[in-house]
Amino acid sequence: MSPYKAILLFGAPGTGKGTQGALLAQVPGLHHVATGDLFRALDKQSDLGKEFTNYSSRGELVPDRLTVELFLQSLVQRALEGKFQRGRDILVLDGIPRTVEQAVALDPLVQVLGIIHLTCADQEAMVHRMRQRALKQGRPDDADESVIRRRFEVYRLESQPVLHHYPTNRIHDVSALGSPAGVLAKIMEIVAPILDSNSVNPLA
Ligand code: ADP
Repeated sequence: MSPYKAILLFGAPGTGKGTQGALLAQVPGLHHVATGDLFRALDKQSDLGKEFTNYSSRGELVPDRLTVELFLQSLVQRALEGKFQRGRDILVLDGIPRTVEQAVALDPLVQVLGIIHLTCADQEAMVHRMRQRALKQGRPDDADESVIRRRFEVYRLESQPVLHHYPTNRIHDVSALGSPAGVLAKIMEIVAPILDSNSVNPLA
């Protein structure tokens, strides 16, 4: 079977991966998958739902095997439901891979065409955004300052090394500061040529 084609949305917590992912989801030929959303949609009383609450409430990552399984199951389900077509559409992955182990596990299945690395040197600006999000969305992991700080630490220790797993010429740094439309415009300069060169023409 042909591998899944994907563009990764990468960046520290609060850099706007979810916001940009939702906007990119509107582009024909792209399909957005956010692992945080997959976990939050679980029944909180299920075994996996309990595991998620246990880890995320402390700002920790869910173990790799559980995460990769949930993600791959969701892809199969979405393809069955006709939400995207493997080999034709390009996945926009938001939140996976988040460890080198996850990247290694996905290597045989997912062809990474490009990585959008949302950057922000001002961690306090990101913390501020997350506190605003906590007010709007009621996410418990955004409400507690110590949990937010732990998520940054985990990002630095476990997720940033993922960037070294991929060839540098596939990584595109984009500043996370500015309006959603401004950031989207910069991302589209990178994504449009990837769509073109993969000759994806969903309207054809
Ligand atoms: P953020 O990017 O703001 O930290 P997400 O919504 O992407 O938030 O993720 C929320 C939580 O879900 C994470 O803190 C983590 O506990 C869990 N999670 C999401 N994606 C992964 C992943 N790929 N591996 C392990 N845990 C994950």
